[in-house]
Amino acid sequence: MPIEQKILEYKAKLERAGAQLIAVSKTQAIDAIQEAYNAGQRAFGENMVQEMVEKQALLPQDIQWHLIGHLQSNKVKYIAPFVHLIHSVDSLKLLIEINKQALKNKRVIDCLLQVHIADEDTKFGLDFDEVVLLLTDEAFQSLDHVRIVGLMGIATNTENQNQISEEFRELKIFFKGLKESFFSEKAYFTELSMGMSSDFNLALEQGSTMVRIGSDIFGHRPKK
Ligand SMILES: *Cc1c(COP(=O)(O)O)cnc(C)c1O
Repeated sequence: MPIEQKILEYKAKLERAGAQLIAVSKTQAIDAIQEAYNAGQRAFGENMVQEMVEKQALLPQDIQWHLIGHLQSNKVKYIAPFVHLIHSVDSLKLLIEINKQALKNKRVIDCLLQVHIADEDTKFGLDFDEVVLLLTDEAFQSLDHVRIVGLMGIATNTENQNQISEEFRELKIFFKGLKESFFSEKAYFTELSMGMSSDFNLALEQGSTMVRIGSDIFGHRPKK
């Protein structure tokens, strides 16, 4: 199916579910991204800093760039001028660096805390207790140029639908708990980034507000 038609289908479906489409364009060519853009898509997700910076320079300036992959502190400076949302914040150290670079660019950068929900050691992310430690750390309280607007999670790569659902459900419950305990006066704590091509339906059932879809829109990723 053409990219344009895929975008329109997702938009219709997600509008009903009250969620936003992040089109994951990592490894995809500029032309393919432009095609999605022409269909009205504005939010794109990349997992590599250098690739995002290169594409940002070549594509329309009203694209909202979402960083969804692991971010090293020494690379924050390259995306700080323009990044729309960082989904993959997994340490206080990284958040402090994002704050510093946001200040240099005279802006506030929105971030999600990536929470480790999968039954796999290989995935990045904070455990539930580490999230609480971060939010209660004095160093976090003083960061005026970052805003935690929600959480991100990646479910286990398994055929077991019940397990995936359960992982998303736990993240949703944790999100609600944090909202009450830490963000009750912060109306911006609203986003739950969960679901990709293989499991977005389960994620929507569990209250996802942002799905990150790559291969189902663009086809299989070209190998670099
Ligand atoms: C690549 C990627 C996606 C999209 O995966 P698809 O299976 O291609 O939809 C979503 N989230 C993250 C963090 C990714 O790295």
